[in-house]
Amino acid sequence: MESGDGIQIPSRLPLLLSHEGVLLPGSTVRFTVDSPRNMHLVSQRLLKGTSLKSTIIGVIPNTRDPEHDTDDLPTLHKIGTAGIAVQVVGSNWPKPHYTLLITGLCRFSVSSLLKERPFVLAEVEQLDKLEQYTTPVPEGATAKDGELGELSHKFYQAAVQLLGMLDMSVPVVAKFRRLLDSLPRETLPDVVASMIRTSNKEKLQVLDALTLEERFKKALPMLTRQIEGLTLLQKTRKVSPEKEKRVLSVRKGGVLPGRRFNLDEEAEDEDGDDTAVLEKKVHAAKMPEAALRVCLKELKRLKKMPQSMPEFSLTRNYLDLMVELPWSKSTKDCLDIQAARTLLDNDHYAMDKLKRRVLEYLAVRQLKASLKGPILCFVGPPGVGKTSVGRSIARTLGREFHRIALGGVCDQSDIRGHRRTYVGSMPGRIINGLKTVAVNNPVILLDEVDKLGKSLQGDPAAALLEVLDPEQNHSFTDHYLNVAFDLSQVLFIATANTTATIPPALLDRMEVLQVPGYTQEEKVEIAHRHLIPNQLEQHGLTPQQLHIPQDTTQDIISSYTREAGVRSLERKFGAICRAVAVKVAEGHRVTVTDASTSERPTPQGDKAAPPEMPIVIDHVALKDILGPPLFEMEVSERLTLPGVAVGLAWTPLGGEILFVEASRMEGEGQLTLTGQLGDVMKESAHLAISWLRANAKTYQLTNMVGGPDPLEGTDIHLHFPAGAVTKDGPSAGVTIVTCLASLFSGRLVRSDVAMTGEITLRGLVLPVGGIKDKVLAAHRAGVKRVILPKRNKKDLEELPANVTADLDFVTAANLDEVLNAAFDGGFPGIARSHTQPQLTSKL
Ligand code: ADP
Repeated sequence: MESGDGIQIPSRLPLLLSHEGVLLPGSTVRFTVDSPRNMHLVSQRLLKGTSLKSTIIGVIPNTRDPEHDTDDLPTLHKIGTAGIAVQVVGSNWPKPHYTLLITGLCRFSVSSLLKERPFVLAEVEQLDKLEQYTTPVPEGATAKDGELGELSHKFYQAAVQLLGMLDMSVPVVAKFRRLLDSLPRETLPDVVASMIRTSNKEKLQVLDALTLEERFKKALPMLTRQIEGLTLLQKTRKVSPEKEKRVLSVRKGGVLPGRRFNLDEEAEDEDGDDTAVLEKKVHAAKMPEAALRVCLKELKRLKKMPQSMPEFSLTRNYLDLMVELPWSKSTKDCLDIQAARTLLDNDHYAMDKLKRRVLEYLAVRQLKASLKGPILCFVGPPGVGKTSVGRSIARTLGREFHRIALGGVCDQSDIRGHRRTYVGSMPGRIINGLKTVAVNNPVILLDEVDKLGKSLQGDPAAALLEVLDPEQNHSFTDHYLNVAFDLSQVLFIATANTTATIPPALLDRMEVLQVPGYTQEEKVEIAHRHLIPNQLEQHGLTPQQLHIPQDTTQDIISSYTREAGVRSLERKFGAICRAVAVKVAEGHRVTVTDASTSERPTPQGDKAAPPEMPIVIDHVALKDILGPPLFEMEVSERLTLPGVAVGLAWTPLGGEILFVEASRMEGEGQLTLTGQLGDVMKESAHLAISWLRANAKTYQLTNMVGGPDPLEGTDIHLHFPAGAVTKDGPSAGVTIVTCLASLFSGRLVRSDVAMTGEITLRGLVLPVGGIKDKVLAAHRAGVKRVILPKRNKKDLEELPANVTADLDFVTAANLDEVLNAAFDGGFPGIARSHTQPQLTSKL
């Protein structure tokens, strides 16, 4: 549409009936289209057409209910705006619709309707001249009409005034500014009316104003009103933008190398003499003697250096960092144990043991501030709230919080910085973190200490040791700083998924607090108390708009997540909120893209009008949004053949159920093992087979042809399909025995049993770890009976009552008891009455 000669829009235009929004020439509006006629227009015209002309459509305001748009044609507004569809996006959820981005070109009036189906086609008459929009009118031209010239000038001035009040860094505002000067004045009423906050009715008035004069007269009061509103708002805010800017530049300025190019007044003052300012800052930074000496020496060097030297900026950056570090700036601790307890309780559901220990820790610190206590390390599966508790601790103490993710860090300079010998050298993460929080006593969370790596660049764990050791950390020396910084005021907290991979020396400095996974019921509570409200808030929704019943939550937990923590549960709620947000926003139907952002200074934005009823997420909606269930209860399905048993495994990600499968074939007594295994697992398998062979007679186990030695002429294949972790070998012992006993006897293992326990060659069952996580996993998977080693009985006390109520626990001291509990009707041996060997563990 760029050519200069009078452009004509086609005289026949397909019409888009817009139910709410008003498109004005020169603005771009997003329309959601879902009525049959409009849909046809998009699919048959916009999507089929190939020429530029076919993307031009007429947008006619129409306030009729879209539901009734099917039969007779609604009465049409006489005037509309021809626009060019610049973007078409289709979607099928929650119902088929298109989203169109349309840029308005000019007004037209409808002369006659040509056809009504499948979409409306009309004979139209163009009202605005298009060339006016492309060639700016020379200054003098507007003066020919006295009143109009004056009006347009007034309007222009008001628009400039409005712009002066807006934040130019917002892209839309900057665009508005550009438009203001490049567009001919005649187009301003349209453009401005669509950018400022105006109701559709007001926009309609501007649309209907056919003469320029009338248009200016209609739009001017709207503009003035916006200016007045903004003035009022800025008055109530008090802090002038200048002051705000200054504060910002002082806080941030120092480290940014580009700062000297800043155009704010301060930078201009110090022009050429900024070393003097730096010197002042060095003295004001209250750094210790040693650091001050180094700084002054560097400063001296800096003064002698020409600015063009690369070293100049290196030194300058160094000094900037030095003056900015919080050498003696700290926040005051405000610890009230009572309040801390409330806060921890409010932030976190369940995890009582952990909360109690954290409170003790805080209480002791309160009594003895200088205490060099151990560093707390929260160990547990992802998403159980470790980071979140760390954050709460900072809040209860009134301290700043900083998180350092250590996962994958394998270079000690990550912790301790690079030496300042080459360009691009940087301080380590600890010093960087302190710079960010700007106080020397924050809570620093060292996330994932179990995932530290090692490389040729030195061992980061060793560097961390220095950071965490209370005897050393008052003089922590970052390579980049090259002077000691006192870290003794920092409260370090660490998190990990497992202690197994934490370097022993590091583990030694820490007090490990286990954070086990949650039960289904705990998750439901956490979801309704914390996760759902949080997600609603993050997505700008209210409980009046979205309701997720407990049933649905339960469904999400069991069919869409399989985890010990609540992280993917939280993500699922996020997905639901996003889906619903779209629906709620659609209730509003039209949003003016440009105008909505240009109104940033007025915070009480007109949120999309809520539908009258909350959107309730039931099972159908759930399937709609999240798709088909990801996890089905599979336990019972898989236990339909002899030679399969369910074990319970512990992994750093929580407990898991684990299927052990066995099959046999003709062969020479060989054992093949596949799946995730370690050496221990292989040993367990051999132990199991030996025990079964030794007791084959007792239990009437046979080989394939019915012989008394199960292994004779037979090869055995054992497979651990998924979920098992190499480390977790021994506790699969009883499962392997059960699985093989099933194979050798041809009997099915009960479909609702899961088990764990280590075995000895003599058939004893030894205790194993991670009982709580394992039982929770069994519960999650719908298991009814859990077989455990007798000596793990005490661990059952830790389990929530509702879990123990659902499950039937069998504690077994020997394999005979295990087999009896694992098969329907027991697993009878011939010599039932024989006494079990009175052996205790040999380990
Ligand atoms: P982690 O650090 O253990 O991997 P996070 O602290 O990141 O887990 O927790 C993930 C999410 O789950 C956070 O939004 C957190 O607030 C929430 N969350 C976890 N446990 C609880 C709990 N007991 N009560 C309330 N919210 C929780």
